[in-house]
Formats: sequence, C-alpha cells, structure tokens
Amino acid sequence: MKIAIISDIHGNLEALTTAFQIIQSRGIKEIFCLGDIVGYGADPGACIDLLASHHVRAVAGNHDRALFDRHVLMCFNRNAKYAIEWTLQHLTETHKEYLHSLPFVMTEGECTFVHASPLQPEEWDYMMSYRDAASAFPAFSTPICWIGHTHVPEIFAEDVTGEPLERGKRFIVNVGSIGQPRDHDNRLSFCIFDTEDWNLEHIREPYDITAARKKIIDAGLPRWLGDRLANGS
Ligand code: ZN
Repeated sequence: MKIAIISDIHGNLEALTTAFQIIQSRGIKEIFCLGDIVGYGADPGACIDLLASHHVRAVAGNHDRALFDRHVLMCFNRNAKYAIEWTLQHLTETHKEYLHSLPFVMTEGECTFVHASPLQPEEWDYMMSYRDAASAFPAFSTPICWIGHTHVPEIFAEDVTGEPLERGKRFIVNVGSIGQPRDHDNRLSFCIFDTEDWNLEHIREPYDITAARKKIIDAGLPRWLGDRLANGS
C-alpha cells in the first residue's frame, strides 16, 4: 500500500491543493501529516478543512501548539509570533479544537510519525545532523520514523553502511515542507512510500507561489513571510 507523508503546510492552501492533486492522481488514500498545519500562511482554516475532508491523520507541530501554549510561543521570532496571533483571530472554534486534539506522536505499522523528533517530541528539537539523529533512534521502536520541522528533506540511517531504505535497517526520514521549503528549492516537498516494497519517492513540485505570497501580503501578515516562499529559504 502506498501512503503519502506531508508536513509543514503553514497555511499555504496553494501548495497543499497542488500536493493533494498529485496524491489523488496516484490513487493514494492513506495520508499522514507531521504537523505545523498553520502559522505563517494566510489560509489556516481552509488547510485544516482540506486535511479533514481527505481524512488525513495528523500529529501536532510547534506552530499548532503555539496557539494554546505560551511557553511554545515564547521561543518564536517576531514574525512567527505575529503570524500565530493573526492565525488565532482567523480560526473558528472547530478549527482550534481540531488542532488542540492532535497527538504528539502516532504509530502505524512499521512507521512512527512525529513533528520534530521522537526523542522528547514536546521539546521541538531540530534534527540537523547525524549526531542529532543518533540520539533519536532509541526513542522509537518501528523501523522508520517520519519527521518534518526543519523544512529540509533528509534521510538519516541508523546504520550508515546500508542502502537508502533497505529492509532490516532503521531510518529517520524528513519529508521537507509543503508550504515553506527552506532548502533553497521553492517547490513543495513531500514523500510517497510503499509500505510493502519500501520504495520511497521524494516529490518536488512547483505551485502558485505568486498567489500564496499575495494572500500573505493582502492579509497584513509580514511581507517577509511571502517573500521567503519565492526564495525557498
Ligand atoms: Zn514548520
């Protein structure tokens, strides 16, 4: 069975809609989201509605939690804080209840799903290096752990001598970001994974950045949040 794993949508409806078009064209019904559904972008509610209509199973990201937890919000920079306050004013109670209900970790078959790291998921640590990943492998029990948070796609192997996604070995896979890629490639990023033969596809696809950027500026959100979509950084 093929599954799609998406992350870090950040209220970018144009990017999410394009990702769903690809997922639907492939006939994939099982979709997992690794959090940061909201924050930065101008369409947080519409993104939640789209996820719900596709029965996407999601975990919480730090931006989703920052709506309810001042300790999380305190760690944000000025623009991110402003976007969270703006988002709070533009979500319905139903949207807020949905985000508040998201778990920090989810396990399904051979996969663990978490936003930042399976090691202390509520600390929102950034997994940037093999040293970071090494300490996270003992914190989950499945062969594969899917993460987002850095907005940079990456594969970390527990045994670095193995081939990518070789059965019998363990991996942490960062799927990148749907709504705000930061690896200097402005195309949306997510993964499609075959749970039977372990074939992994990393999808990069352009979307309507001009429209998403204009919505951010028209909404009165910081212009920089729109500009960085085009830069992919
Ligand atoms: Zn994020």
